[in-house]
Amino acid sequence: MKSMISSTFIVAFLIALLVCAHAIAGAEPGRFRAGAAAGIVTPPLGISINGGFTDRLARHIHDELHARCLVLDDGKTRLAIVVCDSCMIPREVTDAAKALIAQRSGIPADRVLISATHTHTGPTCTPVFQSDPDKEYQQFVAVRIADAVQRAVNNLAPAQIAWGVGKEPNQVFNRRWRMKTGTVLADPFGGTNDLVKMNPPVESPDLFEPAGPTDPDVSILAVQTPEGKPIAVLANYSLHYVGTSRGEDISADYFGAFCDRIQQLLGADRQDPPFVALLSNGTSGDINNINFRKQQPAKGPYEQINLVADAVAREVHRVYRGLEFRDGVALGVAQKEIKLGVRLPNEADLVRAEQILAQAKGRELRGYEEVFARETVLMKDYPREVPVILQIMRVGDLGIAAIPCEVFAEIGLAIKAQSPFKPTFTIELANGYNGYLPTPAQHKFGGYETWRARSSYLEVEASTKILETVMELFGRVK
Ligand SMILES: [Zn+2]
Repeated sequence: MKSMISSTFIVAFLIALLVCAHAIAGAEPGRFRAGAAAGIVTPPLGISINGGFTDRLARHIHDELHARCLVLDDGKTRLAIVVCDSCMIPREVTDAAKALIAQRSGIPADRVLISATHTHTGPTCTPVFQSDPDKEYQQFVAVRIADAVQRAVNNLAPAQIAWGVGKEPNQVFNRRWRMKTGTVLADPFGGTNDLVKMNPPVESPDLFEPAGPTDPDVSILAVQTPEGKPIAVLANYSLHYVGTSRGEDISADYFGAFCDRIQQLLGADRQDPPFVALLSNGTSGDINNINFRKQQPAKGPYEQINLVADAVAREVHRVYRGLEFRDGVALGVAQKEIKLGVRLPNEADLVRAEQILAQAKGRELRGYEEVFARETVLMKDYPREVPVILQIMRVGDLGIAAIPCEVFAEIGLAIKAQSPFKPTFTIELANGYNGYLPTPAQHKFGGYETWRARSSYLEVEASTKILETVMELFGRVK
């Protein structure tokens, strides 16, 4: 009996030693692995297109949509980052994808980051303005995201990693403008107290100055094989989208064109397994590609998309060539759900909205006043508070914050400045969708992004609370 106990003890001790040895080995150089994959999420023709005030139906597919995935594994922690060609993906869909991923690939939900690029020529996945999602497509996207993660896991192989930051200041413009004194700015709720105008007329004599900054950074995270063959590049740039005049096309916008272009510049075409590029959206809630000071020459429907994709890809390529790859780094993930208040309509708002809608009955809604009246009515039964999911990832000294909103650029700049990780970047529209995220000061300015709707409803102090939580999460993994 006594010898049995001691032999059991010795076996347990040996197992414990082996487990420890394995854990230590996991942190050793050479044990770092990466895998990537991209799967098609193009919808059938006839589907509702997201991104406008009125709904459009897809009549043509210009280029395929993808769910692009990068999986990193340091021997202890495995994490997945997915960038999907979509305008926005709601929490139900990202949660469904994460449940499938956990079940199939064994990666826990809190170690998976799923974001939307914000192409405005993608199928409706989230109900916004007069566009409603197709349930079947939502399920399809969740499955295809989980497939991409599974395929990236299947492709895991020893890897080296590097990161860097470049600049492309010429393709980002703040789209919220302070106008000259005397310019009356009406909101759709009957008020005339807005101090800024979104997308004012180009070269308007009433332009005073942009209401906020831009963020010119192009951040990149790259993985390659130990022999130096590119596996994947994840880039991050703070630009809403570019857009095409062909509003009934399905297209991945410049996000897809960038992935194509960087693959070409890196000479990574037709590799086995295929090279994967990912372009995540930074903090671009108030940023677009329109130079309001100077009218640009007219262009073909996809010319500007290709021009911007080329400019960003060239900058990524320039930074890439100077990267110093290392054999392995420590990975970390932290996540927290916070409750944020909702800017609910009051009784008077509802009465006014119902009156406007009664007048427009039986036809498609036109103009801001009617569209926002419908939003007001749709928000009647919203809860007083909603859960908002925040997540951070640490890749060596690089920090990544994930926020489920269309985040204003100045919030991204504050996260970069305050983060203990240098460099840091933010991926917006990640892990769900909670509308625009202006700062409290920008709420005072008013303007489209602050107007109450299903696409802008978080409390005025939301950005302050989100910034605090992101810093708390970075502190946990530092
Ligand atoms: Zn948007």
